[in-house]
Amino acid sequence: MSAITILCSCAADSKTESDKLSITTTIYPYYEFVREIVGNKAQINQLISPGTEIHEFEPTPKDILKINNSDIFIYNGGESDEWVDKVLNSINSDVKVMCMFDYADLLYEEDIEHNKGDEYDEHIWTSIENDKKFVKAISEQILKLDSANADFYKSNTDAYINKLSRLDNSFEKLVQNSSRNTIVVADRFPILYFVKEYGIKYESVFPGCTSETQPSIKTVTKLIDYVRENDLPVVFHIDNSSESLARIICEDSNAEIMTFYSMHNITREQFESKTTFISLLELNLKSLKEALE
Ligand SMILES: [Zn+2]
Repeated sequence: MSAITILCSCAADSKTESDKLSITTTIYPYYEFVREIVGNKAQINQLISPGTEIHEFEPTPKDILKINNSDIFIYNGGESDEWVDKVLNSINSDVKVMCMFDYADLLYEEDIEHNKGDEYDEHIWTSIENDKKFVKAISEQILKLDSANADFYKSNTDAYINKLSRLDNSFEKLVQNSSRNTIVVADRFPILYFVKEYGIKYESVFPGCTSETQPSIKTVTKLIDYVRENDLPVVFHIDNSSESLARIICEDSNAEIMTFYSMHNITREQFESKTTFISLLELNLKSLKEALE
């Protein structure tokens, strides 16, 4: 290869960071969806950094500036994102705003007796069906702003949706072929969308992502009895939460404690070890298999 060709190919690749599309997302799942679509052809910011509790997030002036300077801003919607409207009203920018609630099939919150509330549950990304819709919508928006890389984005989008579809099918088959149909989550319950998608029944200690920390004795006793009477093999707790309630409920039973990943966010350690949304779904598939056996 001549020196000139080398120079040319460098020049062609030398889009500076500021020429690239800039995309800001709030939580980890949307960060991964974008990253899988754009590779290194866009600049991505995850506003709520790994390890941060998403329900208590408040943006700093620097975060607001990041949103303002982005080409696309992607957020979840729902009660934990009430800060977003205020921020969007305060900025003066032509950033394309995408609220994932607009693309989701929404479900109302449920209490632990399974009575429906009047607010939507916000954990929409725990449904793989929803995730496929989000990836498609995000990809279409990216294509509109950067059609030069259309083929690259399209093929990445298809590949990622295929991965999600394969997992979706595996969950569906697993539930169809399992003898059990109920899981016990000795914790908060942010996976309503997930269980509803596959017709899994559940018992939990707290509804949704309540900040309650004191469970009712009645609920705990009911779960202990349920685990023993049905000789359940697994009691779940939720990622980034304590196992202590699961331990109490498993006592004097044969149940093993396992983590179910709700993936509000991933930890700094998971981020650095390149743990992905897909790899955590695979772990969920494995532990669900044990729980329903
Ligand atoms: Zn939550």
